[in-house]
Formats: sequence, C-alpha cells, structure tokens
Amino acid sequence: MNTKVCKFGGTSLANAEQFKKVRAIIEADPSRRVIVLSAPGKRNDNDQKITDLLLVCQELADQGLEIEPVFNRIRERFIEIVEELKISIDIIELLNETERLIIDTPIKAFVASRGEYLSAKVFAAWIDAEFIEPAETIVFRNEEHICPSTYPKLSKRIGETGLYVVPGFYGADENGLIKIFPRGGSDITGAITARAVEADVYENWTDVSGFLMADPRIVNNPESIKELTYKELRELSYMGATVLHDEAIFPVRDVGIPIEIKNTNKPSARGTRIVSSREPSERIVTGIAGLKNFVMFQIEKTLMNKMVGFGRNVLQIFESRNISYDHTPTGIDTMSVVVRADNLGDKLDLVIDDINRTIEPDRIDIVSNLAIIATVGVGMVHHVGTAGKLFTALADEGINIRIIDQGSSEINIIVGVNNKDYEKTINAIYRTFVK
Ligand code: ASP
Repeated sequence: MNTKVCKFGGTSLANAEQFKKVRAIIEADPSRRVIVLSAPGKRNDNDQKITDLLLVCQELADQGLEIEPVFNRIRERFIEIVEELKISIDIIELLNETERLIIDTPIKAFVASRGEYLSAKVFAAWIDAEFIEPAETIVFRNEEHICPSTYPKLSKRIGETGLYVVPGFYGADENGLIKIFPRGGSDITGAITARAVEADVYENWTDVSGFLMADPRIVNNPESIKELTYKELRELSYMGATVLHDEAIFPVRDVGIPIEIKNTNKPSARGTRIVSSREPSERIVTGIAGLKNFVMFQIEKTLMNKMVGFGRNVLQIFESRNISYDHTPTGIDTMSVVVRADNLGDKLDLVIDDINRTIEPDRIDIVSNLAIIATVGVGMVHHVGTAGKLFTALADEGINIRIIDQGSSEINIIVGVNNKDYEKTINAIYRTFVK
C-alpha cells in the first residue's frame, strides 16, 4: 500500500475548526495514514502558541512559582477542542497529569514537548488511530543528531496498514530523557518518520500554498514555485525563505523521498514539490531570496595569491573568535570575508586587530550594512548570459553591486548590495527573470 506521511503544523491545529480541516484532508486519501502533528499554534496574530505558553510554565515552575494562571490558558484551549469535537478522551485527567508533571519535573525539553504530546493524544483518539510515543522510538544522540536506530524502531512500530499519529518535535536520549529538536522541529520528525516507513511522499501541511519565488512583503504577488530540487531549497532557505525547517530536508533527501508543501486552508492548491533532480524548465530562475545585515572584511595584500596558507590564516582568525562566515570572494590581491552582523556581535575591533597583527595587510576595509541576495535556479548553468542579464538589470536601476559570487554548485548567483537597495534589487531581478 502507498504511504504518505503527513505533517500538520501549529496553525493547522490551532482550534477545532482547523482540526476538522486536517481530518478531512486525511480522510480524502487512504494513503495518508501516518500523521505527524505539531502543538496547536496561534489562532490569530495576537494569540500565543501552546509551546510558548508551556515554556512560560516551565520558567515559573523552575523558580517554584505558581503555573496555574498560565497553564489554565493551555487547559482552556484543549478542553474547547475536545468539547467542540466531542472527542472521547479524559482530557481533564490528561491535563491535570501534565500540570503535575510540569511542577514536579520543570525540565525545559520535557515541558516544551507536552504540546505535541497532548495534540497527538487528542487527535489520535478522535480519528481512532494508534498513538506512537516518540520517547520510545526517536532516539537522540545529541542536540543535533538522532541515532540511526530510530529508523528501525519507528518502522517496527508503524505497520504496513492502519492509521498512526506521531507527535512532532521530541524524542528521548538513550536513557529515556526527553529531548527536543530546535523550534519548528516537528518538520524534522515528519522527515524522519517518512524515511523510516519508506513513504512515497512526505506531505508537509502548513498555512501557505508552498514556496513563493520571492518574499511577498517585497515583491507584489509573486508566483509560487511548483517544483524545486533539495539543493535549490537549501540555497533559498539558507538565505531566509522559511516554510520548512532547514534540517527537515536531510533525512528524506538522502533516500529520494519527495516533499510536498501543501496548504491546510486550501488543500486543492498545487503547492510546491521538492525533488532530488528535475529537468530545467524554460524558467531559468527558481527563486530569489536574501538577507540584510552582513559585514564584509576586504583584505588587500599584494601577491596574496602566491602566499601559501594566506586564506587559512585569515579564516583561522574568524574560527578562533568563534565567528562563522558565509562567503569568501577573492581576487588576485584581495580576499574578502562576509559574515552576518549577528555572528560578529561586538567583535569587529578584535578581528581587525587580529588581521593587522597576523596578516599585516596592505589595506583592510570594512563594508557594513550589506545585504546578500541569492538568485537560484538549476537551469542557470545551461543558459548563456544569465549573469549578464542580472547585472544589467541592476545597473539599469542604478544599484551599486558590492560583491558578486557564483556558488560553485552553479545553481546560484549571489550579489551583495547596500541594505538600502535590498528591496529594489530583489524587485529588479524578479522583473527581469519572471515578469
Ligand atoms: N511546537 C514547536 C514550536 O512551536 C514545534 C513545531 O511546531 O514544529 O516550535
């Protein structure tokens, strides 16, 4: 039987109305039989996510303070869902037990995980599905990695037929202590589960109809992306296009399971499909993404290209100051290092001192307030003149390009411009390649 693993995010589960939509989606396709759920999210912009409320409870409990007033808000939301949908589950007892455990064990990962736990318990009871406990199946090696034993454990628990509900976001270490993924991590649980059951597809249901070609706050009504590769997605999401958690790609990418981003509020919309490889379409550019607030160190030293170890010495400075870098454009006598202002923090002067002392450059210039924009597309490599077209478009707008970098994967062209030209640049690129 075909199996689709379907992950539903917080907004898809925000209230009883949303629960109904999720159920209708599941029932519309019998292969949707492994369901991964987030905790209920915000019902509107002024609302709170259950996970955030739990984290407040944890802090209060940790300081020995009363959690009741905050926990009551969690209580009300679950009770409302259960009563409205007439779900046969003893929600009062489940909530009382959860509250007791939070007070007795105010450990952050445990408390944060309770939103997903409750959400999945309630949903499983409603659709009469089997509840899978991640603390018994998803084994964390450390904060970032799970043990490979997770896959056989999960696949053993999830049968070839039947309906299963898995809470997202958490698992446990080898000692059974609850561990969580980073925020938004139910996407990762979905990907791991899809891989474990060798799913035909991993459907990720959210509140938008997939990825857009550019940020809709910058470009007016951008087109959606129908299909893109994992690599293109990596480039776009690293630069700020967020729909799917970055780390959710790896487990499915390695085994070639496609991901489909779908909209719970508009299930008929096509969404975005993420695949291992695809034929370049007539559209050269797949998407445009970017970020503001980078700082560039431009280091000039005559005959730099002949000095063995120059690059390493420069990067060593950043490493020893614990600053990760994003790009290193080079020329014959220049090497630049581009870092995020956030990563640099207040270490600018320290790094300049280090460079002066160890590199003894002819010159060092600092360019701050830099925005980086990536234009991404697998088709770019097959088209002559893509870069020329892009630079002409920016020149026509009078935009001063501070950096140019073509990723070695040849699926992106990166430009750095002043922060103030960020929106203008994205619009110019969009107009040139899309419409
Ligand atoms: N509930 C968690 C969060 O708010 C995890 C998730 O929704 O994916 O981050």
